[in-house]
Amino acid sequence: MTDPRPILQPLDTGPRPRDRHGRSLHDLRISVMDRCNFRCPYCMPESTYGEHFVFLRNDERLSFDEIERLARLAAQLGVSKLRLTGGEPLLRPHLDELVSRLRRIAGIDDLALTTNGVLLARQAWALREAGLDRVTISLDTLDPALFHRMSGGRGSLEEVWVGIEAAQAAGFPRGIKLNTVVQRGVNDAGLLDLVERFRGTGIVPRLIEYMDVGNRNAWSRDQVVPSRELIDRIDARWPLEALPSQYPGEVASRFRFRDGAGEIGVISSITQPFCGGCSRARLSSEGTLYTCLFATHGTDLRTPLREGASDQELLGRLREIWLQRTDRYSEERAVHRHDGSRKIEMHYIGG
Ligand code: SAM
Ligand code: SF4
Ligand code: SF4
Repeated sequence: MTDPRPILQPLDTGPRPRDRHGRSLHDLRISVMDRCNFRCPYCMPESTYGEHFVFLRNDERLSFDEIERLARLAAQLGVSKLRLTGGEPLLRPHLDELVSRLRRIAGIDDLALTTNGVLLARQAWALREAGLDRVTISLDTLDPALFHRMSGGRGSLEEVWVGIEAAQAAGFPRGIKLNTVVQRGVNDAGLLDLVERFRGTGIVPRLIEYMDVGNRNAWSRDQVVPSRELIDRIDARWPLEALPSQYPGEVASRFRFRDGAGEIGVISSITQPFCGGCSRARLSSEGTLYTCLFATHGTDLRTPLREGASDQELLGRLREIWLQRTDRYSEERAVHRHDGSRKIEMHYIGG
């Protein structure tokens, strides 16, 4: 069979760039949709994102052609992992088509999706067929009433269950993970139940410390449950063993159940920041590139894309952005928190 990929002129990509702290670029998170069908208070509180909130117009979002082009260029600078996110990425029509295009990019060996799961039942099979390697489903609680509340009154736990089952049936080659944001006094009491429910299923829960993303969730440190506390609680019930990280800059610290019932991860952005190995960049739905989840500004790539910039010019911009990168927000949180700068909102750049 002939290779369907077009023959491209090789670009002069030069050496792989390293930022000001010596970190290379491996991971690109792409927000394909700024809208969401939930209003989780920690991300898009209804008080701000009510019916009058103005989201991007369709033509303001990057097209699939534009996303594919930037992803291909990013791969030439060292990106090997792509994650599609949002807002809610499954609200973007024909996402499977984008997945199959990204799948064919040379150098991309891991293609992932983060979703709230509500629309997954309808799309899991097509996404798997298109080449999606893995899916992360956000699930904060097993209590239906609390789930409804934590989705801002928009989601039903039942729909997410059906989505999880569909993802299991589709059989993503690199499996399924859960993202669980833990907030003290909100959902922390039910965590052991959640962990128990997924022991032995092959699905890996990842417990995320509640973060001060964006400017609108009224974050306070008292609501953060340190991961260490969670691990101690889980370990007291089902003894755990720490696992070595799989690659430099891995976001989650991993643990296995000593009885062989699988593993869990914790993401401790607040209490144990991991900026030192951070190799992630984020592309917003409107085509702005950010080099940190907590960034206050990014670089507009949509304008040059639409004004006819060549691949070599875009590559030069991407390289320059990365070379200038100094971000270490989580390690410097105490300094930044009260400096008055407005951070980009999470639903524009994804988690
Ligand atoms: N809508 C999709 C979803 O919820 O999975 C994808 C986008 S969402 C912004 C990506 C991840 O960010 C979710 O797992 C969500 O729980 C997490 N997240 C959002 N706000 C957060 C916060 N304040 N602290 C920690 N994680 C957060
Ligand atoms: Fe939507 Fe995900 Fe944000 Fe919840 S966390 S509001 S599902 S984008
Ligand atoms: Fe990376 Fe910014 Fe998070 Fe640090 S705070 S790990 S630099 S995204």
